Amino acid sequence: MRQRNVVLALTLFCAMVHAAPGSSADTGDAPPYRVLVGGRMIDGTGADPVEDAVLVISGGRILAAGPRDTTGIPILSEVFDVRGMTVLPGFFNAHVHRGLSAANLEAWAREGVTTVRDLGCDERSLAIFRTYFPPQPRRSRLVAAGPLITVPGGYPIVPFGGSWSTVVTSVNHARETGERLLDNGADLLKLALETGTMFGQPIPVMTLGEAGMLVGVAHGRDTVVSAHITSTVDLDLALDAGVDDLAHMAVDRWLTTDEVQRIVDDDVSWVPTLELWLCAGRRAMAVANLRRFVAGGGRVALGTDYEGYTCDWELGMPMTEIRLMAEAGMTPMQIIAAATLNAARVSNLEHDLGTLEPGKVADVFVVEGDPLSDLDALLDVRLVIHEGTVIRNALPGRIPPPPRPASGRVGG
Ligand SMILES: [Zn+2]
Repeated sequence: MRQRNVVLALTLFCAMVHAAPGSSADTGDAPPYRVLVGGRMIDGTGADPVEDAVLVISGGRILAAGPRDTTGIPILSEVFDVRGMTVLPGFFNAHVHRGLSAANLEAWAREGVTTVRDLGCDERSLAIFRTYFPPQPRRSRLVAAGPLITVPGGYPIVPFGGSWSTVVTSVNHARETGERLLDNGADLLKLALETGTMFGQPIPVMTLGEAGMLVGVAHGRDTVVSAHITSTVDLDLALDAGVDDLAHMAVDRWLTTDEVQRIVDDDVSWVPTLELWLCAGRRAMAVANLRRFVAGGGRVALGTDYEGYTCDWELGMPMTEIRLMAEAGMTPMQIIAAATLNAARVSNLEHDLGTLEPGKVADVFVVEGDPLSDLDALLDVRLVIHEGTVIRNALPGRIPPPPRPASGRVGG
């Protein structure tokens, strides 16, 4: 409320604005306010877009967001004229590997993917990376699970060798392992629940007691658990253990209505990784099951499994994943929600990210055109703001229109 009053007071003055020319990015002192004016705003909540919107950013957070005729522009604002463009929350890729790479994180951030969730990396390397590469606006925010938690001889040790994994041998050891990983910097836990259907061989998997203990440890520390599954036979173990999201679409057979309903009732998200399944020759079943899941009311978060398999992976904006989601019947608005609010949720960041609402961290990107009518517009990135810092500015150097007088209400 106090912030709103500040903005209201400031709008009583004639706002002093200046155009943001086509400069590249932040170089020095940040202005007190950055304001995006005149664009179509999709706030990530799934609500209808706001035309001719104003988005006010201050101190790395969103101060106000709403229609121009009800949202004041503070004095001393740096104004970005985004007419004809669409303003979106920073996207997530909620299933990647190779997140311990400054170059990869920069490539994602430049395309508007301002957060990635790494679901399998080496435990020690994660600690080292975090020491030498602390968070920086030019790099995508790294949410990391550390290694997959499995059992001796379990996935991904079979069939891929032992990298990116750690084993548990008892319920007590599961508790110790979960606590150790979280103590050492993991943001969430990743369980490997893979009994081998898709690999044509039986693979040992942890017990329900072990899986449940790991979920209990994570939830006790206010974080979440993602479960690798690839087939319907492993669904029950994941759901019985109480995981928060499923890290690949099941592709062994069609999902049943009852299975979809249980996942919905259990409030579990699905990260389908369609790009992986395209690569692995399972595209048709993955798309068909995603279609069933969405039709049944399932909640989807966007993630690709970047470099989790030998493929020609897409870095940056995950258009392959987005086009396959559209092929599964998801609307552009559903896809945007999957890449923003729903992905923030499985990353345990929904309180700070995923939507353009007052109080949230200012991760914002702007594209030319309207992704609701043409998803390829997502490739035409004109502006990226990460934690309030401009990290890419390819706006034309237009002079913005003068702000309208204050009309008594801020926000929306
Ligand atoms: Zn993966």
